[in-house]
Amino acid sequence: MTNGHQLRLYNSLGRRVEDFIPSGDVTGMYSCGPTVYAYQHLGNMRAYVSADTVRRALRWKGFTVRHVVNITDVGHAVSDADTGEDKMEVAAARERRSVLEIAESYTRVFFDDLKALNVLPAAEYPRASAYVPQMIEFAAVLEARGYTYRLPSGLYFDTAKFPRYGELAQLHVEGQLEAARVEQVPGRRRKTDFALWRTEEPGRRRVLRWDSPWGWGTPGWHLECSVMSIALLGPHFDIHTGGVDHRELHHVNEIAQSEAYLGDGQPWVRYWLHNEFLQLGGAKMAKSAGGAPRLADLVAAGYHPAAFRLFLLGGHYRSQLDFTMAGIDAAQATLRRLAARIQPLRPLPAVETFEEAARTADPRALDLIDAAISADFNTPKLLAALQDALRDPEITPDGQRALVAAADALLGLGLATLDPADLAGQSADHLTPEERDAIEQLVADRTQARKQRDWARADQIRAELDALGVQLTDTPEGPVWQLR
Ligand code: AMP
Ligand code: ZN
Repeated sequence: MTNGHQLRLYNSLGRRVEDFIPSGDVTGMYSCGPTVYAYQHLGNMRAYVSADTVRRALRWKGFTVRHVVNITDVGHAVSDADTGEDKMEVAAARERRSVLEIAESYTRVFFDDLKALNVLPAAEYPRASAYVPQMIEFAAVLEARGYTYRLPSGLYFDTAKFPRYGELAQLHVEGQLEAARVEQVPGRRRKTDFALWRTEEPGRRRVLRWDSPWGWGTPGWHLECSVMSIALLGPHFDIHTGGVDHRELHHVNEIAQSEAYLGDGQPWVRYWLHNEFLQLGGAKMAKSAGGAPRLADLVAAGYHPAAFRLFLLGGHYRSQLDFTMAGIDAAQATLRRLAARIQPLRPLPAVETFEEAARTADPRALDLIDAAISADFNTPKLLAALQDALRDPEITPDGQRALVAAADALLGLGLATLDPADLAGQSADHLTPEERDAIEQLVADRTQARKQRDWARADQIRAELDALGVQLTDTPEGPVWQLR
């Protein structure tokens, strides 16, 4: 049995599109998860929806996936570059709650958001605070192998000892060093060196603190992902994901310390996938910038979480995407039309894989969907293929049913059950005056055609209106229209 097209993906390591070849029976996949000191904003959620698309594509191709997503509840300094206080402690002081309470409440909201966005649950969500002894052990191995040096502020990874440092980011370390006139950390030999352990300053006792060979303190932020992924997926695994910001620093450091620790000369992880940013007002949507909306804000404004998911999938994960309310409006309208179109086809068959879909889905349309997902997860193309198939009069309802189920196994929009009524709210208000005029003109043309008994022309216009998502009803007072 075939699994369709060869799955190809863009590997940040080497910056090229490659065939995906799993290393074993179970595909290990690790995604950098949230730092739970605040809500995850819509930009963060793009990272998890992107990873979910990868997961769904792997399942589609018949691979068994073991997915791990970490929860950073300790160790992430205010600056990604190891300096400053721990983000969790700053949040606790700000909110006058304990670090534990902060972590718990934001983790819970994160899980709720994942569920609302129909993201498949990971096999494990390890918390960094539960792995500190293993992190200390890991750092001690690196120290024993001569990869580190000690400073009063902690234990540092000596990037000069790791010749391949920066390969993932394609860093020009020398140039970067030249530019780095100011040493942020006293005594740090290179700007690229990073903390494995952050020893607390004398007289400044931290709330989160562990004893270690380097004194009381907290682990460096990068350590947790290496330690927890290796603990839960084995020394080597297939796929590591995260936002593109991680490609330049966090993942570079994860690779350096993991390969130094494993010392087997093998690449630690074979495929590195990075999603581009969700932008707001032309810049990366970020917590620190303030005003970054979260899913609850959209829901409160009357949008369905699936509309946001559709909005994300309407862009390719490696392209920047601008968040605008007009974009969300359009996504909700598209989803409403899609749900209305699919309603008469229900119930949909249960489909998760290409193999299952191939039994009854229209083969030509299925091939287009499979080709789209296999080409580095091209969800915009997949959506277009689905829309085309739904408009294709040559495809039987049975062929369409399996096709919709297949597309949604990859898109995760919940098309089998979405109620168009839940996607209402947006009236014709959001049409531009020009769009409204164009629709009115078509309606008037149709009325004229009917008066002249030109039924073919009238039907053609109705079909055009239908394609625009306009629902037309003839009443004794004349035709009335609304958007579906
Ligand atoms: P954090 O909670 O800041 O550690 O980030 C969690 C995940 O969201 C990471 O994979 C980040 O790379 C990703 N991320 C952060 N901001 C954005 C954004 N504006 N667009 C897409 N991904 C983002
Ligand atoms: Zn990570």
